This record gives sequence, C-alpha cells and structure tokens, in this order.
Amino acid sequence: MSVQGLSPHGLNLKQFSQEFRAKTGPALLSSLDACVRCGVCAESCHYYQADPRPEHVPAYRAEAVRRILRTQDPWTRWFPGWFGAEPRRGRSDEEMLRALGDVIFGTCTQCRRCTLSCPMGVDTGTIVRTARGVLARHGLIPEGLKATVDAHLKTGNNMAVSREDFLDTLQWMEEQLQSDTGDPQARIPVNKQGARVLYTLNPREVKYFPLTILAAAKILYAAQEDWTFSTEAWDGTNYGLFSGEDDKAAEIARRLEAEAVRLGVQEVVMTECGHGYRSFRWEGPNWLGHPYPFRVRSFVELMAEYLDSGRIKLNPAANSLPVTYHDPCNLARNGGIIEEPRFLLSRAVREFREMTPNGKDNYCCGGGGGMLAMTEYSQRRLQAGQAKARQIAASGARVVVTSCHNCVDQLNELNRHYQLKVKVHNLCEIVADALVLAKAQRPAASGAAAQDA
Ligand code: SF4
Ligand code: SF4
Repeated sequence: MSVQGLSPHGLNLKQFSQEFRAKTGPALLSSLDACVRCGVCAESCHYYQADPRPEHVPAYRAEAVRRILRTQDPWTRWFPGWFGAEPRRGRSDEEMLRALGDVIFGTCTQCRRCTLSCPMGVDTGTIVRTARGVLARHGLIPEGLKATVDAHLKTGNNMAVSREDFLDTLQWMEEQLQSDTGDPQARIPVNKQGARVLYTLNPREVKYFPLTILAAAKILYAAQEDWTFSTEAWDGTNYGLFSGEDDKAAEIARRLEAEAVRLGVQEVVMTECGHGYRSFRWEGPNWLGHPYPFRVRSFVELMAEYLDSGRIKLNPAANSLPVTYHDPCNLARNGGIIEEPRFLLSRAVREFREMTPNGKDNYCCGGGGGMLAMTEYSQRRLQAGQAKARQIAASGARVVVTSCHNCVDQLNELNRHYQLKVKVHNLCEIVADALVLAKAQRPAASGAAAQDA
C-alpha cells in the first residue's frame, strides 16, 4: 500500500463509516446499495479493458467501500463474510483502510463511464471521490496528490510558480504575439479592471508549454476580445476534485470567484483543462453554496462561438495531417462539451477522423482522477491507457487533439509507451495555426507547428 501514513489522530473503521455517511447524501447512499452485481459495467472501465480481472470491474470499487461500512453493522460482528462485510483477516483498522485507499486512489480515475452503462445508475466515480475525501482528511492520501492541492492553497497555483516567473512568461509571449501578428500594439493584458473576460491557465502552460498561452492569446487577439489575466488567481485547476476534500476545493474556487468579482468581469473562461472546467463550472457553486454572479465557460466554447459568429476565420490547409480528437471525460461526459471541438476541427484541419467510441462514450485516457500526480501508480496508469492507445492506432490519425492538459500529458506518455508515432496537441494550438488574420497581421506558427519544430 503506497499512500501516506495515518495522521497522529488516526482513523478507525467506525470513524470512516460515520464520516462517509455524513458526507453522503441520500441519493448516493441508495446508489451505493443499488448494485445488483450484474457485471454490466465491467467492459465500460478502461482498467478492465486493459486487464480484465475482477478487481477492475467498477462495482468492485464501490463494493470495497460498502464492505468497510458493513463492518459496523451489529450482525456482521461474528460472520462478516456472510453479510458482505470486509473480513479482518488479522488486520488492524489502519491496514484495512490502507487497502481501501489503494483501491480508491489507485484504480479509478472518476471518469464515470461506468455510470452510463449501469442499469441501476450506480455512480462509482462519486462514491470513490467521497471515500477519498474521508481518508484524505485523516492524512491517508498519496503524497503527490496532497502536495498538489497544498501548493495551490499556499502559493495560488498547483506548481508553486512565482509571480515573477508568471509575469516574465506573459511578457515573453506578448513579445512573440506582437512579432507573430505584426502588431506592436498586441497585448496580453494583466489585472485589467472591467475586462469582459478573465482567462485562466493550467500552471503547466507557464512552466513547460508557454506556446499554448501564445496560441490562446492569438485567438483572443484575432477575435478582438476584451480580456485579462489576473496575477492573484490565474490557476484554473482544482485538485480538490480528485482528493475529495470539499473544504479545500471550495477555498480554491472561492479565490477565483473573489478575483473575478474584484475585477468586475462578465465571464470567467477556463483554459483547456477538463477537471478545472468541471470543478469551477459545475462543482464550484455546490461547494460554495451559491451561484456565481458571472458566466463560466471553457475556452473551447468561446472559440466555437468566435468561429460561428465570424469573429475568427480558419484555413484548414494549415493543418494537413489526419487528426483525431480525444474527448476529455470532464469536458465531454461530465461537462457536455462534445459538438464544439468537432465544429472547430471541421474548419481547422483538412481531415478529421473520429475514434470509436467517442463523445460521452469515449474511453478515459487513464490520466484522470489526479493519476498524473500520484507517481506510485504510474505503471497502472500506463497500462490503463491501453484502450485509448488502441483507439488512437485504429483511427490512423497522425495528430491527436484534445482539450485537457492532463490528457495531453497522459497521451504523450501513451504515445511513447505504445509507440503510436503521433503528435499530441491542445485544440487551441491547432486553431491558432489555422487562424486567418487580418491583412495588417502577419500569421506565423505559434502553437502546434512551433512546438513540433
Ligand atoms: S452495472 Fe451497476 S448494478 Fe451492475 S455490477 Fe456494475 S455497478 Fe453494479
Ligand atoms: S469511474 Fe471510470 S475508472 Fe472509475 S470504475 Fe468507473 S469506468 Fe472505471
């Protein structure tokens, strides 16, 4: 078992059961009891697809939680196995909870594909998240996942990028934007009071992939958007979604909300980050207990609106290789953004090929659920990506486009591990390279083409 030790206050089975029930609403509790063990969900899970063992059937994860809860039923004391309770087998409470932690942190990306196939509507992803939250509250959480959440709360972003490095990167990209567009007035605005849009990032863009920032800036420039970054709240990620810690997730969402209110923006636009979008757009108002006084959209939606309304124009000849699209679980299945990326790609590339299945039925790439932050599960993560690797190979595409930074990282690793020989890009990079800029603006490779160079 590779999760951190228990806190000095410890956690026993009774406390776990009490706290889990207290965190769980009636709908989820009845969902937990609704499983009829039909096994229909098995094939829906990418872990099972890669390695069809009983432990990889989605129902096994919820059953692992259920078996711990049943240890507290009075009639299970003497013959736990008869009543579906987890047998002790000489283990301490701590050992039993560590074993549970290995299942819920290490074998589920909370992608919720299994829920679509379950006739009883069992929401395994949410059951897993709730159980993670109880364990994490007592310190039983993989170090990397804990460090990512804590860095966000301590420094304002999950990679602890300093304010100076953030501003230096924006300055560098602004100079590049001016060079690429031929417009010395082109700007990457920061802390602009009253801007229409507050745009957020994933810290990996600042640290490793600044050309993705340039690609977004070029699109916003071409659309003549009134937008800004904030130095106070620019990280749109929220790993509290993955750790299950509602209080920390709420605090991260609260800071972004407060900054959007302070700047007086009409809209917060989330960079291409699946879980960041889901966290702030859909979960944030629940964590905070109120709706936002502004609109929240993914950059994918905003780009599609620009194209639909004629604010940007694209030339598909700029992207001549066959392209396929990987639907991030938190954008498509859990966020409903399915048609927009396809609309953009239909105008931005010469040849688009769908994976099968796709959209809300798409397989998780294996990088969700915070898996990339939990290095102890790297091998499992790569193995669980096998279904995605097969889909990519079967598409025959040479370029894989997606709208999530975690997915990009995982797809790049799958590319190397399974020798897929593809290029992997964020959607905005492909759109930026296809932009047809006005006469005074000089197009140049900014995203996909430049990062391939
Ligand atoms: S499909 Fe639903 S009811 Fe059937 S085993 Fe899976 S979780 Fe249980
Ligand atoms: S939520 Fe996704 S990863 Fe988790 S059990 Fe269901 S299909 Fe598998």
